[in-house]
Amino acid sequence: MRLKIAVLAGDGIGPEVTREATNILRAVAELGGHEFTFVEGLLGGVAITATGSPLPTATLDAALDSDAVLLGAVGDNKFNALPPDKRPEAGLLQIRQALGGFANLRPSIAYKALSASSPLRPEVTENVDILFVRELLGGLYFGAPREWNKETNEAINTMRYTRDEVVRVARVAFELAGKRRKKVTSVDKANVLEVSQLWRATVTEVAKDYPGVTLEHQLVDSMAMHIMNTPRNFDVVLTENLFGDILSDEAGVITGSLGMLPSATIGGAVNLYEPVHGSAPDIAGTGKANPLGAILTAAMVLRHSANLEQDARAVEQAVHQVLDAGYRTADIARGSQAGQQTVTTQEMGKRVHQALTESIDRRQSMHAV
Ligand code: NAD
Repeated sequence: MRLKIAVLAGDGIGPEVTREATNILRAVAELGGHEFTFVEGLLGGVAITATGSPLPTATLDAALDSDAVLLGAVGDNKFNALPPDKRPEAGLLQIRQALGGFANLRPSIAYKALSASSPLRPEVTENVDILFVRELLGGLYFGAPREWNKETNEAINTMRYTRDEVVRVARVAFELAGKRRKKVTSVDKANVLEVSQLWRATVTEVAKDYPGVTLEHQLVDSMAMHIMNTPRNFDVVLTENLFGDILSDEAGVITGSLGMLPSATIGGAVNLYEPVHGSAPDIAGTGKANPLGAILTAAMVLRHSANLEQDARAVEQAVHQVLDAGYRTADIARGSQAGQQTVTTQEMGKRVHQALTESIDRRQSMHAV
């Protein structure tokens, strides 16, 4: 298997966590005999310092010429005085737009070892494994007209979807559900909004092509409650842009730390992979950054761009194993609990690397017998 990965580590803790994620990808390549090449590019504050632009042409070209883009995080307080379109974050928005992914995937997983990190009770979060599929290019964030008229004191945004936009993201959700627990929950507000009525009718129609997958519809307001009360009931949750933005953040509390959350945006020219967190300038350079969100993002690269499902699962399993063994970065350490050890970014990366190598070695020797 050959894969060219553009690595845009970015600012703050971006390079620290991305280093651990690429180490994991290198280990998978080495152990499995795959050829992964890594092309580094500048994005965000580091790109502004070096070139004056948050997304230099060379970076965009390298991204478009790759099979997958792995991003760290962008953002640096020293550029806060710049206008929004010149800041590091503008580079991120531009590259997301240029790559054109329309389906944003965000897993929300409960780790048994971290049950104390979530504000929800362990019996509620136990075995939760939700995958959000959020439509990313349509809806209220992009619909026209949009305006704040300061003279009339009136503002408008437009929630707009076409049938085709709903079909393509719904297909992603059903395909993924088919490989998981075979259930799609589609979220809308069809009792009030025409856009949601189109959404519901279209998703219902797409579902006919996937007879092995169960479809249920939920209204967004009651869904906000169900996610907290009975998160175990959900497998793939399909949403439009705004609802997905809010609900996936809400579900982030199930995992317990921002540093644990991965994401992928697929369906465009090249898939884009990034941990959910930002550049965390408050802890950059201290070794306190949790690299597990970035490492789990690397697992998504293996699953969605390399079609190496077994290796993706091995990485996720290695993360579970290291957490079960008591290793914690500062954000997920809870006091001085017995059996826990607080480790640095690098140490955490090394532990996952070790657990992963052992599990791939075991798998290979079983195959060799
Ligand atoms: P943030 O996600 O960077 O940090 C929020 C809090 O979570 C901080 O206390 C931070 O220390 C902690 N945190 C985040 N990631 C962590 C990790 N991996 N391990 C341990 N702790 C972690 O959000 P913010 O502070 O609002 O923003 C900081 C900068 O990042 C800003 O410039 C913002 O614009 C940018 N940002 C970038 C992205 C992105 O690149 N995708 C996303 C959000 C924010």
